[in-house]
Amino acid sequence: MSTVHIEEELQNLRGELADLRRAGGYLPVVGEGSERPRVMFVGEAPGEKESETGRPFVGRAGQLLNELLESINVKREDVYITNIVKDRPPKNRDPLPDEIALYAPLLDKQIEVMKPEVVATLGRFSMEYVMKRYGLESELGPISTLHSKTFNSPHGFKVVPLFHPAAAIYNQKLRPELFEDFKVLKEFI
Ligand code: URA
Repeated sequence: MSTVHIEEELQNLRGELADLRRAGGYLPVVGEGSERPRVMFVGEAPGEKESETGRPFVGRAGQLLNELLESINVKREDVYITNIVKDRPPKNRDPLPDEIALYAPLLDKQIEVMKPEVVATLGRFSMEYVMKRYGLESELGPISTLHSKTFNSPHGFKVVPLFHPAAAIYNQKLRPELFEDFKVLKEFI
């Protein structure tokens, strides 16, 4: 697909998102980064900072994601960063199944259009959605056992489940493990 075509598809997605947008004055967050990424990161949902700016992972979890990317010498603009849910759930609560169902087709479209080689999920919600949706349901298990493993989706890309950076902010013991896990991505970038 040509760059012009990808830009057009992304524009369409932005339009669809504006239609879905809930009241509340927050900006939706489509995602940002390379439109032809080798690695696409999929988080959970925008938080407060993200919905103020319209950009993914710009709050505390985003700072840690930046450090993780730096630790493997990867620039943010060379990957694509998005979420399953494109709008902020009230009070940062976990996304509800119907919110995931509402926004997931937009993520599917992003994957279809950008054709990443690797989809790196951040946290349990995106891991479960992506593995079920992309033919890896039988491999599903707790994130504590699946993190940093590489799965081959029959849809032609790899899935690497990772802990959500916010989990390593709440539980400092996870921090070194998350840095170790990110090294798995080096071979794909
Ligand atoms: N947490 C997420 O899952 N996504 C963001 O964009 C920010 C924080």
